[in-house]
Amino acid sequence: MTTPFAPIMARPPLVLLAGGETEMVKAVTDILVDDGYQVVRALNAASTYTLHEQHEPDLAIIDSRLEGEDPIDVCRKLAAQAGIVPPTMFLLEQTDPFVGDRTIEKALQVGVIDVIQRPLMINLVRRRIEQLIYTHRTAMNLYKADRRWTQVFEDNLAIKLIVDIDHGGAIVHANQAACEYYGYPLEDLRRLSLSDLDATRESSTKPLQTLFSFRHRTANGEIRDVKLYMGPIDYQDRELTLCIIQDVTKRREAESAEREQRTLVEALRATSATLLTTLDLDELLDQILDYANRIIPNDCTNIMLIDDEGYASVVRFRGYEGRDAEAMMNERLKVSETANLRQMIETGGALVIPDTDAYPGWLRVPVAAWIRSHVGAPIRIDNEVIGFLTLDSEKPNHYDADDAEKLHALADQAALAVRNARLYRQVVEYSAQLEERVQERTNELITERGQLRAILDAMTEGVAYAGMVPGESQVKIFYVNPAMTHITGYSFEEWQENGIALLQSVGLDEAGYLRARDTVYNMLIEHGIHRAEARLVRKDRSEYDAATVTSRITDTEGNIIGAVIVLRDISQEKALQGQKSRFFAHASHELRTPITNLKTRLYLLRKQPEKLADHLPVMEDVTERMKKLVDDLLDISRFERGTIHINRHVTDLCDVVRDTVLIQEPEAERKGLKLTLKLPRTPVRVYIDPDRIGQAVTNLLTNAINYTPSGGAVSVRVTTAKGERGAVHYSLVEVEDTGIGISREHMQHIFQPFYRVVSQVRGTGLGLSITQEIIELHEGRIGVESEPGKGSCFSFWLPLVTDTVDQGSLAATKG
Ligand code: ADP
Repeated sequence: MTTPFAPIMARPPLVLLAGGETEMVKAVTDILVDDGYQVVRALNAASTYTLHEQHEPDLAIIDSRLEGEDPIDVCRKLAAQAGIVPPTMFLLEQTDPFVGDRTIEKALQVGVIDVIQRPLMINLVRRRIEQLIYTHRTAMNLYKADRRWTQVFEDNLAIKLIVDIDHGGAIVHANQAACEYYGYPLEDLRRLSLSDLDATRESSTKPLQTLFSFRHRTANGEIRDVKLYMGPIDYQDRELTLCIIQDVTKRREAESAEREQRTLVEALRATSATLLTTLDLDELLDQILDYANRIIPNDCTNIMLIDDEGYASVVRFRGYEGRDAEAMMNERLKVSETANLRQMIETGGALVIPDTDAYPGWLRVPVAAWIRSHVGAPIRIDNEVIGFLTLDSEKPNHYDADDAEKLHALADQAALAVRNARLYRQVVEYSAQLEERVQERTNELITERGQLRAILDAMTEGVAYAGMVPGESQVKIFYVNPAMTHITGYSFEEWQENGIALLQSVGLDEAGYLRARDTVYNMLIEHGIHRAEARLVRKDRSEYDAATVTSRITDTEGNIIGAVIVLRDISQEKALQGQKSRFFAHASHELRTPITNLKTRLYLLRKQPEKLADHLPVMEDVTERMKKLVDDLLDISRFERGTIHINRHVTDLCDVVRDTVLIQEPEAERKGLKLTLKLPRTPVRVYIDPDRIGQAVTNLLTNAINYTPSGGAVSVRVTTAKGERGAVHYSLVEVEDTGIGISREHMQHIFQPFYRVVSQVRGTGLGLSITQEIIELHEGRIGVESEPGKGSCFSFWLPLVTDTVDQGSLAATKG
């Protein structure tokens, strides 16, 4: 079924029917059910109250015969409830004893709306019930709407005003929140208009953000940022405007703080970006001061750095013009004893002193006496405070916590830059040191190289350095010393051009040379050194014996990068060795021959003792020769070992020479030689061992006799001559012959022991060597001039003992 109030019904109407099972009740129930109402039945008074409260019925019908309580009282109680009370109908049974006009009157008095009694006219009852429920429902809806309004407007926490825009924005109504927000009682608020609240115009330092943003002033004068949302509202039959006010002061503050923060961060970012490009510490400190001024406009700013002793002093400042800047730079503050500095070190944070007079620890130094407010921030590198960035002002309260925060941020950026600059400075210093060390080392190397060069230049051995050329298989000669060019005859340029091929052995073909080179290379790899002896060819095609020692040069990783070749000309040693072995062969032959001779003579003597006189001179001669040979050998060995003993005294050289010549005269005569002696008239005084000088003269004389064919001449002369500087006089002994002479080739070797020019003449090759040793022992010099086939002239010089010669020096020589 449809009810006429369907549109305003959220649910089908509910009727509470209280009463027993009577005919009346039944008939009413039928009507209700027929009309589609929900029916809740209460059988007694108690359940009536309960169900009435539970179901909030649209209509209560109380039967007059309800048990438990006087039905009139029940009606009164129901009607007396608070709020919108559902209407109560009274069902009156005419047959009831107590029924009468009084009852109806009573019922109506206690709030019953209608009374149903017999005869029951169903259509009428139906219409009356419908009427009542409709009325109640309408009232109910109105009530609910009102309650909703209260909730939406009055009790709402949002600030709401109802204004009459047509009448200058007059405030018609305001909710509780609005009264509290603006600080006015409702009636006062109602006397104001929106423009009375508006503080936008007068306090506008910042432009309006949007059309709906205002600044409102509250009763106590406080200015708040608000946003107004407006919409039409029907209020008390008037077309008004509902304003919902949103307080955005907090948000504005947060926004502006955020904006400021962002500006600061951007400034700092820009700052740090430029600061980090500066590596010059002084320039950097200046820039920091510039930025400090840009970020926090200030009177005076400075940077202090802490030294190793814990004192802070100003290293850079700005804006202290007119003050004693010099004195300020010289002021050193012990950080641990300066309260504000110590505080910054301890907290690691910035410090603002709004009024230095009120700061108990403020250090009163004359140069800073004018400072009334101050803010400082520590410059920290790796948690260590290395200095401070400070701002000073002569006005108190010039700086606040905000400034401190900004300065702190700048100081942190500055610290990074300072650290970079310091690192850079260290790097620069380090590289300077390094450069110095390199220079020192270079100098050392130059000196060492000079020394090495001197050594290499002075060496008699040839030295060459052969190095690998990166990317080439050939080795190249990078250096040869003078001895190398001298020995081989090749210049450095030729060495550079031809390389080690210039060390080619005599008679070695290309293949042989390559094999030899590989052998050397393999030896160097395996053992690091290669030694060899070979007969090589000079540039002038002459040959020489050479000993080479080749050592490898490696890099730090052990790769061969080159080799040093040391070359020694061993031709002479070779020759000497040859002579020595020849001598031994010769000496043994020389000894064996006389010994065989002796043995033969002894054998013959045993058989023919009568022929003693024949054999004896031969045996004596043989023995004498053997003795001479052994004596010479002994002398040579003594000279070599330096153990020869000479017994010197001032002697007339003429005596020694004359005696020797006399002894040799018979031999010269025997060989058919003309022997002459020429002596000066005055004695030739020399400081000598006469026996040894005699031995020397004998050697020269016997050689002259031996190597001069019969018919020739031998002459011996003693003369004196001035020394080179004219200070010391020399005596000169010459032994000249017209003998076989000596070729140039042999001449350079004849003074070497064992060297003999192969000849028919018997000898040991020791005579000249011994003679030279004897002369040099007497500070003399020996020389020879000779021409093969024409003759030779051997001569020696000895220092003269003159009157000018200091006896002391003689004595010294004697010792
Ligand atoms: P030795 O005479 O015993 O062989 P020496 O040392 O006295 O040894 O002489 C070395 C060599 O010098 C001789 O073998 C000889 O060939 C040569 N010599 C020395 N004196 C003369 C000289 N007066 N005339 C020619 N040759 C000489």
